[in-house]
Amino acid sequence: MSSLYDIVVVGSGPAGLTAALYARRAGKTVLVLEKENFGGQITYSPNIENYPSERSMSGAAFAEKLLAQVQDFGAVLELDTVRHITPQDNTFQITGEYGCYTARAVILATGSRHRMLGLPHEEELVGAGVCYCAVCDGAFYKNQHVAIVGGGNTALQDAVLLSDLCTSVTIVQNLPDLTGDTVLQEKVARLENVRIRTNTIVSTLHGDSELQGITIRSIDTNQEERLDVTGLFVAIGQIPETEPFARLSAQDSHGYIIANEQCLTDTPGIFVAGDCRTKPVRQIVTATADGATAAFAACQYLDR
Ligand SMILES: Cc1cc2nc3c(=O)[nH]c(=O)nc-3n(C[C@H](O)[C@H](O)[C@H](O)COP(=O)(O)OP(=O)(O)OC[C@H]3O[C@@H](n4cnc5c(N)ncnc54)[C@H](O)[C@@H]3O)c2cc1C
Repeated sequence: MSSLYDIVVVGSGPAGLTAALYARRAGKTVLVLEKENFGGQITYSPNIENYPSERSMSGAAFAEKLLAQVQDFGAVLELDTVRHITPQDNTFQITGEYGCYTARAVILATGSRHRMLGLPHEEELVGAGVCYCAVCDGAFYKNQHVAIVGGGNTALQDAVLLSDLCTSVTIVQNLPDLTGDTVLQEKVARLENVRIRTNTIVSTLHGDSELQGITIRSIDTNQEERLDVTGLFVAIGQIPETEPFARLSAQDSHGYIIANEQCLTDTPGIFVAGDCRTKPVRQIVTATADGATAAFAACQYLDR
């Protein structure tokens, strides 16, 4: 028989940890299950400059402080990968790789991962030239030459933002045309320091500990060209970590979990917070805000 918790939080990123903090301060018993890395994806960020009240801090330092705060308030944290969740007699049975857990309410905070290019050395160069978020990291490439991979709305918005900061911006798109909104395409076309290379892929990342350039290859001619960029922004989409919950709560066509303003899904007792839910902005501030909202709503659900 597994122990019964008031709330089980799945995922220990900023959303999950904030949810645990709020739920513990409201006197609920809380278990946080994390599959690999307490603190979530922000731990990979070398520097955060857009979290209110903190001028500059590393992602690891932010996560460490938040984790300590949550532990101080008495949340239980365990490493386990949640495989599925089944409603049963007003509770939820949570099946992990290593154990089974029972909760009266669940907060899903499993985040999303950036789609990667799959090139050699890409993982080693994350945060050292290879970036997946221009809003987060663009400012670190001020007055430098950068490239963007992708041609959709995110890539084009990134181009607008980076053109203000960087000396030059090259958009590398594998399709014959850009696919973002026409208005954005027109805006990008007017930017003098942005050039667009369609039907082109990035074939090589150069540099061992820091990105020192990329090689791009034309799909039509196979001709290669080296670009001496110090920043590469990969904007080819995100994958929400929501596969195990596909039958539990409704998801949109991209797999993000649908929720209302209270972070409640279409299954009573199942709440969702952070990057894994449908929302326009995926950042720490919005993840922590969701965590607070979801915990508040889950406590109200338990006290009903
Ligand atoms: C390199 C980088 C730099 C960034 N810089 C900034 C920045 O400067 N400012 C900013 O505001 N944002 C930044 N972000 C974005 C920010 O990290 C995210 O918006 C935020 O972490 C989302 O929090 P979350 O809790 O929703 O999800 P996550 O942080 O993704 O946490 C989700 C957690 O759930 C776990 N999990 C997933 N599935 C399961 C499962 N089945 N069972 C158990 N656990 C599971 C994951 O392992 C993960 O630890 C950056 C992101 C990256 C990658």
